[in-house]
Amino acid sequence: MHPAAGAGRPDPVRAARRAYDDVVTPTSRPPATSGSDVTPASGTPTRRVLLASPRGYCAGVDRAVLAVEKALDLHGAPIYVRKQIVHNKHVVATLQARGAVFVDETDDVPEGALVVFSAHGVAPVVHEEAARRNLRTIDATCPLVTKVHKEAVRFASEDYRILLVGHKGHEEVVGTAGEAPERITVVENPEAADTIEVPDGERLIWLSQTTLSVDETMETVRRLRVRFPHLQDPPSDDICYATQNRQVAVKKIAPQCDLMIVVGSSNSSNSVRLVEVALEHGATASHRIDSVDEIDPAWLDGVTTIGLTSGASVPEILVREVLAWVAEHGYGQVDEVVTAEEDLLFALPQELRRELKAAGMSAATESAEAESAASLPS
Ligand code: SF4
Repeated sequence: MHPAAGAGRPDPVRAARRAYDDVVTPTSRPPATSGSDVTPASGTPTRRVLLASPRGYCAGVDRAVLAVEKALDLHGAPIYVRKQIVHNKHVVATLQARGAVFVDETDDVPEGALVVFSAHGVAPVVHEEAARRNLRTIDATCPLVTKVHKEAVRFASEDYRILLVGHKGHEEVVGTAGEAPERITVVENPEAADTIEVPDGERLIWLSQTTLSVDETMETVRRLRVRFPHLQDPPSDDICYATQNRQVAVKKIAPQCDLMIVVGSSNSSNSVRLVEVALEHGATASHRIDSVDEIDPAWLDGVTTIGLTSGASVPEILVREVLAWVAEHGYGQVDEVVTAEEDLLFALPQELRRELKAAGMSAATESAEAESAASLPS
C-alpha cells in the first residue's frame, strides 16, 4: 500500500487519471475547518459532532447515478438497471420513483430494451448475454473497477495465478473474477490466506476488491506472502482513493468518539468497513444506519462526542438529516475534520455522452450532489 494513501490524493488516482481519457476537469471544494486539532479547547466536555471529511459520494458513484438520471432524461421511463446501480437504498428508491427498473439479470430485461450496468462492474459473459438479446447497454462500471479488470486480463494472459482479495459473491468480485475464472482464486480474509491452495510452480500476483479495509487487506497479503514468498504486488493499489480516504478520516476522529455513526446500506462494503475501522481505532461504539430513522436514542447515553461519516454511495442529504437530529438532541456543535481534499470527477460513459451530444443535451458530470457535498450543513 502506498504510504501516501489517505493523506491527499493517492497514487492510484493519479494512475487512473493517466489511464482513462474520460477523466474530466476537477471541481473545486471550499476549505473546511482544519483537521489538525480535534480536541475540545477547554476542559469542560462540550457535546459535539466530529464530521469526517471526505465522506459520501465518490467519483464512481456520482458518475453511475448521473448516468441513470441522464438516460431517463434522454429516453424516458423505463430504463432497466442490472443490480443496484450503487449499494444504497435511498439512491435506488429515488431512481425507481423516476422510472428506473432494477433487475437481477439481463434475462429480466425485455429484448431490445436499454440496460445500465452498475458501478460494480460485470463479467464479460454479461456483455455477451446482453448482445445476444439485442439489448442496448450503458456501462456505468467505475473506471477504477475497470482498471482492476484490465489488470486481471493482463496478468491472466501472462499465465499468473491471481489471488483476488475480496468478498466472494460481492458483485465487484464476481465481475472481476469473471474476466479469467480459470486463473483467479478469491481470498476472502487473513484466515483464508492461511488455507487456500494453489497449484505448484505458478507465478502468483495479488489484486483486490476496491472497497476493502486497507489494514485487513495488508494483513491478508502478509499472511499470503508467508506461505508464498514469490507472491508479487500489483503495479498500483486496487483499494480506491475514496475507500482509503474515508478510512483515514475515520481513523483520525475515532479515538475522540464515544459513538461513531456511519450512514450507509448493509450491502455497501466500504460503509461496513468504516464501522469496523472506527472500532479498531478507538471509537467506544460504532453503528451503521441507512437513514436517521434507524438511530436509537439510547446510543446517546453518556456520549459527549459523536463521530459522523458516510460511505461512498451515500447522498449528503442523509448526513444532513442525521446532523439535524443530533442537534435536536443537544449536539449542535459540528466540527468538520478534513484529512484530504477530493476533486476527482469521471466523465459519463462514452456511449451515453455520444447520445446526449446527438440530442443536444448536456453531458456535464457536475451533479447537484457534488455541489451539495461541497459545503458544510447549515
Ligand atoms: Fe469507484 Fe471507489 Fe467509488 Fe467504488 S468506491 S465506485 S471503486 S471510486
